[in-house]
Amino acid sequence: MILICGALFGEEIIKRPTPQEALHKLIAGNIRAIEDQIEHPNHFKESKLLALVNKQEPFAVIVACSDSRVSPEILFDQGIGDLFVVRIAGNVVGLIELESIHYAVTQLKAPIIVVMGHENCGAIQAVLKNQDQTMPEIGALIRPAVECAKGEKGDLLQNAIEANVNLVVHQLKEMDFIKKAMQAGDLEVVGSYYQLQNGVVRLLMEPSNPCVKGEL
Ligand SMILES: [Zn+2]
Repeated sequence: MILICGALFGEEIIKRPTPQEALHKLIAGNIRAIEDQIEHPNHFKESKLLALVNKQEPFAVIVACSDSRVSPEILFDQGIGDLFVVRIAGNVVGLIELESIHYAVTQLKAPIIVVMGHENCGAIQAVLKNQDQTMPEIGALIRPAVECAKGEKGDLLQNAIEANVNLVVHQLKEMDFIKKAMQAGDLEVVGSYYQLQNGVVRLLMEPSNPCVKGEL
């Protein structure tokens, strides 16, 4: 799955991964992290730092919660320069987050966007309990998912977290720059759910109606 496809005049040619290859790379990293077989313990290796001084080529955009327990580089076992991370409580996307994602897709050509919710997300819980007065902007972005989840069977908080992921994936896929990259086969957008209890990142299927729960 690694992407070094040859050598020319002593220089390695690095091919950009396809969206599918990028997703597999993330999943493989998550498995390594869970199994305590990490390959990226030393993020500050001098050679890697120097190679990244003037450029970056992250192979994935991760939209994650700011929660201290869901650090993408750690749970996907990736190093410096690998992931372009947009973190905000509740992993929602407003105009500011969208500008960051736009840069990663159009300028850095990242081939995959993973929107990642997580177990026991405090931001979603706050909106569920109408305790989001101190974060009105974020709360407003989360509320539609909470409303979706209210009609579903099962655990209300988990359903709201998954509905929130699905709605963000749906929202991103409606953006022109994302549609364009997807139509060219250069980009995929997927939803996921991080389980705090065991470190597993579960992929979520985006249902045709983003309010309906789905799982791969
Ligand atoms: Zn959270």
